[in-house]
Amino acid sequence: MIIVLKKDVNQADLQFLVEKLESYGFKTHIYENEGKTVIGLVGDESVLRDKPLSSFPGVEKVVPVFKPFKLVSSEFKKEESVLNIKGIKIGGRHSVVMAGPCSVENRDMLFDVASRVYASGARILRGGAFKPRTSPYAFQGLGEEGLKYLRQAADQFGMLVITELMDPRDIELVGKYADIIQIGARNMQNFRLLKEVGKSGIPCMLKRGLCATIKEFLMAAEYIASEGNYNVILCERGIRSFDSETRNLLDLSAVPVIKGMCHLPVVVDPSHGTGRRDCILPMAQAAIAAGADGLMIEVHPKPSEAMSDGDQSITPDEFDILMKRVKIIAATVEKHIEE
Ligand code: PEP
Ligand code: MN
Repeated sequence: MIIVLKKDVNQADLQFLVEKLESYGFKTHIYENEGKTVIGLVGDESVLRDKPLSSFPGVEKVVPVFKPFKLVSSEFKKEESVLNIKGIKIGGRHSVVMAGPCSVENRDMLFDVASRVYASGARILRGGAFKPRTSPYAFQGLGEEGLKYLRQAADQFGMLVITELMDPRDIELVGKYADIIQIGARNMQNFRLLKEVGKSGIPCMLKRGLCATIKEFLMAAEYIASEGNYNVILCERGIRSFDSETRNLLDLSAVPVIKGMCHLPVVVDPSHGTGRRDCILPMAQAAIAAGADGLMIEVHPKPSEAMSDGDQSITPDEFDILMKRVKIIAATVEKHIEE
């Protein structure tokens, strides 16, 4: 349920209302929508049956939200959310490109990739320090050493860091180095992790689970928002299908579908979404044409020697071409690639 307040509502009425609602056991989320203050309510609405909220001072109207995901739904907030993460805007007219290697392998390669992708226009540096590998014997990432390199490289070029958090026990450590915490596809429904990231308030990017429906995806985002963290980016990264020509089936229709249901920014990852180097450029172009609020692209100086995901990594030169193309496409759909 949302409570839309009158334009001239005063602070005392707002505070009285919030205290009352909290005394009924609700969590309240206050934000601005279409120039008005709105209170989002999460909790057991049956307690309101004999409490006429619409007659409280300052209340303009009370609007029910029927979707199971509430805080992230577009019923709750009509305008698209524009996140501002340390000056980088994501959402609305602003698209942003995240690029870097699958895994941080060593300092030199990371600085090399960072300088190249920054020069082409990427503003968020990606790289895994804790890797969710299918095999326990595959390279698991450099851990804190990798986080340090990410921070140093990003600071050198004026970029933000996005990196994956796999375990809630590492949240302080990862939060110390990262600007955006990535929750990987395999952890989309790790509810304990979602809640911890929600409580931390650190901006995050939630990747769609390998077999998750869009509703399940949005319910997972709701877990984070319900803890008070609205700085959530959604990332379509392909889902399992019967066809093994591509690693996953990149669901580009998820972009407009999610945008019709949810106000959060949606980014597309064609690298994990297809698993094929030859598909990255066309799918990145298509994603921006479909209205994506950004891209996540794996870039490696020598993809054939990458310690993980070499098959889907492109070179810095190929990334440069991709950036030139997507900047043009973004403009045709009234978006702007943030630089
Ligand atoms: C990644 O981005 O490093 C990653 C492992 O992606 P996903 O969780 O989508 O597989
Ligand atoms: Mn990868």
